[in-house]
Order: sequence, then C-alpha cells, then structure tokens
Amino acid sequence: MARAYSSRVVSLIAGLLPIVFFCSALPSKSASALAAWALDTDGVLQLRTSVGAKLEAFFQSPDLSKGLRVWIDFPGELIRPRRLRGTGPVKEIRLGKPSEGKTRLVVEFNPQILLDPQRLKLIGTSPDRWKLSFVGLPTKGLRRIGEGDLTAFSSRRWANRNIEAPQTLNFKINSSALPMVQRGKFRVVIDPGHGGPDPGAVGINGVRESDVVLDISIQVARFLESKGVKVNLTRTSEVDLDLPPRVGIANRVRADAFISIHANASRNKKLKVNGIETFYFSGLRGLRLSQSIQQEVLNVSPGSPDRGVRRGRFFVIRRTNMPAALVETGFVTGQIDGPRLATSYHRRKLAFAIAKGILSYLQGVR
Ligand SMILES: [Zn+2]
Repeated sequence: MARAYSSRVVSLIAGLLPIVFFCSALPSKSASALAAWALDTDGVLQLRTSVGAKLEAFFQSPDLSKGLRVWIDFPGELIRPRRLRGTGPVKEIRLGKPSEGKTRLVVEFNPQILLDPQRLKLIGTSPDRWKLSFVGLPTKGLRRIGEGDLTAFSSRRWANRNIEAPQTLNFKINSSALPMVQRGKFRVVIDPGHGGPDPGAVGINGVRESDVVLDISIQVARFLESKGVKVNLTRTSEVDLDLPPRVGIANRVRADAFISIHANASRNKKLKVNGIETFYFSGLRGLRLSQSIQQEVLNVSPGSPDRGVRRGRFFVIRRTNMPAALVETGFVTGQIDGPRLATSYHRRKLAFAIAKGILSYLQGVR
C-alpha cells in the first residue's frame, strides 16, 4: 500500500533578508540534505533531498551587477562548493556554503531575464522530491544540467551522499577507445584483493571491498582480452585466497605485469578521507606501470584526491618477479569515493581506466 503525502509548497521569499534569520539549529557537521538536482530543458528544477528535509527558497531581482537569482537553502553542510556554467537563459549555477551547516543552490539567470516571483513555487512532490518550475522562462538554448541521481531512493541517512561525488559526463566506455598493443604478445595477471570470508574494507552502506574489486577486476580482464592480451585472474569468485598462491600464479605464467586491485578504508570510517593511490615495490617498470594506472584512475574519479604513486612493501608486489602495481581505487568509507564505488557505472569506468593504464604501459614495453 502506498502512503499518501500532502503536497508541501514553499513560497519564495524576497532576497536581501538577513541570512542570519534562517540559520537553523542543525548541527554544523551534518552532511548536506541535497542529494541530487537537475534543471531540465523545460525550465523545471528538480531536487532530491533527504527524507523530510526542510527547505527555504529565495528570489532576488536583477541588479546592476547580477541577473535575477533564485536560491534554495538546505540543511546540512556542503563539502565542496562549486560553480557550473549555465546554458541558454541560465548564466550560472552555484552550490555553496552560505554559513556553517548549510547548503545553498543558486540559479543565476542572464541579465535580460525577468520572472514573476509570485508564480514561482517550490513544491514538495514526495517526502524526498521537489520541483520548482521557472514559469515564463524562455528556454531557448537551455540544456539539461544536474548532479547526482534524481531517481535513486533516499534513505533517511544516506540521501546526502551522492551529490558530493561529481560525475564525469558523457564518458565513453568502449574498448575501441583503448590503446592498441600487439595481439597475443602480452600476459597480465589481475589480482582482485581479498575475497570469501575476508571482505577487506567495509564502507558506507556495507559496501565490501572484496565485491567491489572482484567486479572491477573481471571487467579489466575483459577489456584487456578484447585487445589481445592474455589474462589470468587470481580469483574469479568469492573465495579466500592466500597471498603466496596469488604471487605463485603470476610467477608461474611469467606474466608481463601483475596488478592487484583494492579499495581503501580509513580508520574510524572518516567520511572526509578519499583518494586514489597506487603502490609499486621496485624497478622503473613497476613505477611506470603504477604511474600509468594512477593517472587513468584519477581521470575517472573527479574530486577524489591524488594520493600519489608510492613505494609499498605489500607481499603481492614484493614477491612477484615482474613489474607489479597495487592500485587503491578509492575509499569505501569516503564521502566522495564510497557512494561511487557502490555504483556499477563507476566500477565500469574504473575497470576501463585500469585497463587503459595497463595497455599504455605495455605499449612502452619492448
Ligand atoms: Zn585491500
């Protein structure tokens, strides 16, 4: 049975009111209630928030320096203030932190745009969905702009996670876009970290490292095979495999490269700790392989910090006889990385990136 919710309507308040009036008593450390937003080509702004979030909407007429602005304040603090360039009648969209513990989404229109504030209403259509129709807006040239997944289900606690992870738009995942290497010449061992009873790191919403890296690894293998590279996976299911056999496989098949794929976790599951890092143990080739993978993974992980390529003494890269790298694809416990690692689309992008890094490295191998 579906529960019916009465519709909530928030009238726009004229701007220039002292912002301090609206400071809520919410703890400043709570994360933003804004989970996803999009401004569509028909001039309708859609929002997804945490369930039951209380929003305030404002209107400001154009003045000498700026065009008409409409903004919405959300409880909870934005981690990463940012600006997005608008299209058509929209000059810019800003996501900011007007004061501690708040998130503000500002839509600024071009100077010539005029709207009647009486006709603008922010309407709650479900406990976590909102709509603001910019009635009277000339929509010529307006392209869809947005962040986060509007269709996802908002739980009370995690609604706020998605938006902090910027999306790479229009990313082409296609093996024809991967570097070419001589077919049949190379063999690579892909090692999905952990497995079976050993889940590795466990993050937001119970995301398990061992599942994440197995999915990525299998896809890396497919991408490489599509380019004529022979691949051995150290595990292809949720089995617990000790470290020496992983190394043993690679040394026995005389692989040209060994790549162990992991996801990180921070102690005490700190949401603010995010980032990509790749380890090698020794040798210029191991370093090159690691650098190549690190760069590609960073390219598909916007907003996630570059923790660099570093020397590490991990067993699997220390005891393998060939150039070896251990890549940490992000923190399952992190606010930026965690929700992304939980999506199959991002894992596919990561797989593509790792395969690209490996192939670029192989291109340089004589
Ligand atoms: Zn691991």
